[in-house]
Formats: sequence, C-alpha cells, structure tokens
Amino acid sequence: MSDPMEAYRIDAEPYYRPVGDEIELFEAAYAARMPMMLKGPTGCGKSRFVEHMAWRLRRPLVTVACNEDMTAADLVGRFLLDAEGTRWQDGPLTLAARHGAICYLDEVVEARQDTTVVIHPLTDSRRVLPLEKKGELLRAHPDFVLVISYNPGYQTLLKDLKQSTKQRFGALDFGYPEHAVEVEIVVHETGVTTAVADKLVAIAERARNLKGHGLEEGISTRMLVHAGKLIAQGVEPRAACRVALVRPITDDADMRDALDAAVATYF
Ligand code: ADP
Repeated sequence: MSDPMEAYRIDAEPYYRPVGDEIELFEAAYAARMPMMLKGPTGCGKSRFVEHMAWRLRRPLVTVACNEDMTAADLVGRFLLDAEGTRWQDGPLTLAARHGAICYLDEVVEARQDTTVVIHPLTDSRRVLPLEKKGELLRAHPDFVLVISYNPGYQTLLKDLKQSTKQRFGALDFGYPEHAVEVEIVVHETGVTTAVADKLVAIAERARNLKGHGLEEGISTRMLVHAGKLIAQGVEPRAACRVALVRPITDDADMRDALDAAVATYF
C-alpha cells in the first residue's frame, strides 16, 4: 500500500535562521508531546520554523490554512459518495493524528469556535479524536503533535481563542528578527548583497514604527524577501520597494507618500 504520508514528508532542510532558543524549546516540547502555539505577526517566520522543525524531528507535516468557512468536518473528515457507495475520507487533522504527523493549523483564530473545539480532546492527556459520524474514537499516534499559529495583533472581542483553548498549549513568541539577523535572512532568501538587504531592513524598521499610527501591520520579513527577489531580478530598487513593501500595506495616499519618501532616503 502506498504511504499516505508521502506527500507530507520534508526531505531537504528548510532554511531557518534561529533568533533565540526556539529550536531547543520546541524540541523539548515535542519530546513531551506538548501542543505548541507560535505567536507573532504575519510573515515573521512561524511557518518556516514549523517546516524546519518537522524536518529536524523527521516527522511529516500536515498544514491547514484556517478560515471562517472551515467546518469541523473539513478538519476531521467526511463520508464521500463514489461509484462503490460511500467511503470515509480522513480530514487533515485525522490524517495527522492517525499517522503521527505534526499538524499545523495556521491562523487558527480565523476558524469558528465550534470548529476549534474539535482539537480539545487531542490536546489533553486523552489524545483522542472522536470521529462521531464514523463511530470511531481515534487514539492519536504517539508521534502526533498539534501546532497552531496565532497573531495577537488581530484578535478582537469577537474573534479570539477561548482561554480553554489557549491554555492547552505552550507558546513561543515570534517577532521581526533584530537588524543583523533579518539582513542575513534577506540575503539568504534572495541573493541580494548585504548592503541592499541592510537598506531594505532599515526601511522596514521605519515602517514598523508607524504601526498603530496609520498602519495596521508593519512591513514583514516576507515582504522584504519579495522586494529582494525583485531587485535580484534586475528591478530598480525604488520600484521594487513600491511594489513589494509600500503598496501592499496601505491604501491611504498620505501614508503611501510617507513610505515612498522613506524608501527614497535609502535608494
Ligand atoms: P509566518 O508563518 O510567520 O506568516 P513565514 O514563515 O511564511 O511567516 O515567513 C515568511 C518568509 O520570511 C519565509 O518564507 C522566509 O523567506 C522568511 N523568514 C522569516 N523569518 C525567517 C527565519 N528566521 N529564517 C528563515 N527565513 C525566515
């Protein structure tokens, strides 16, 4: 029989530049099979970190991008109709729990609370997943662990994880890396020179100071990687910054002009 986890294995090392002791802490958490929450703004390396850890721990990685239309059945599974009749199909969470993968629920706060509660019995000492429609009580594989990402900046009173969900997880804080580390990441990911990456990071740092003063979110490492890739393709740096750094984060004309002016002081 073919290996159902084949598509989820990570053979080559995903590049991840540690910023602190997050690798050691995650390894210890995994050894204890403690579910983990990766906290931080979008584009600061959470997904890359979990890919790297799955490779390091030699576990398959099943990633689910959560959204508000997602139902419990989308995570757990459902009966499908085919030529031979009805057939059960495991959802991504069930697949991971059955076969001992790391299941990464990205932006879990986007999912509705009635969807989120299906993870509860998997995240305490029971480590089970009731497949009610199928009449199966799945015991999680000993290697299975659940990881979620969570952006504390986004939550509102209407949209937040319940304490009863949060308290099931250990949590690691992620933020934008310090200057020299972020330069190193941009150079590695794009091939631009250190001098160019240094300027890109400086622009991002200026924009990050505007968060809460007209900008909802700062310029992320992901956006710097986009800008660097355009520059590496031969795009003129100011144009690259316009496309990859400024236009995506603001629709406000004054803010756009202020950010363009900041770019112009570097390039
Ligand atoms: P998140 O999951 O936090 O939204 P990602 O993990 O997708 O963000 O990070 C976006 C991009 O930023 C990655 O694809 C990678 O190029 C880069 N990146 C950010 N932090 C790191 C890091 N510490 N090491 C390596 N690459 C990083």
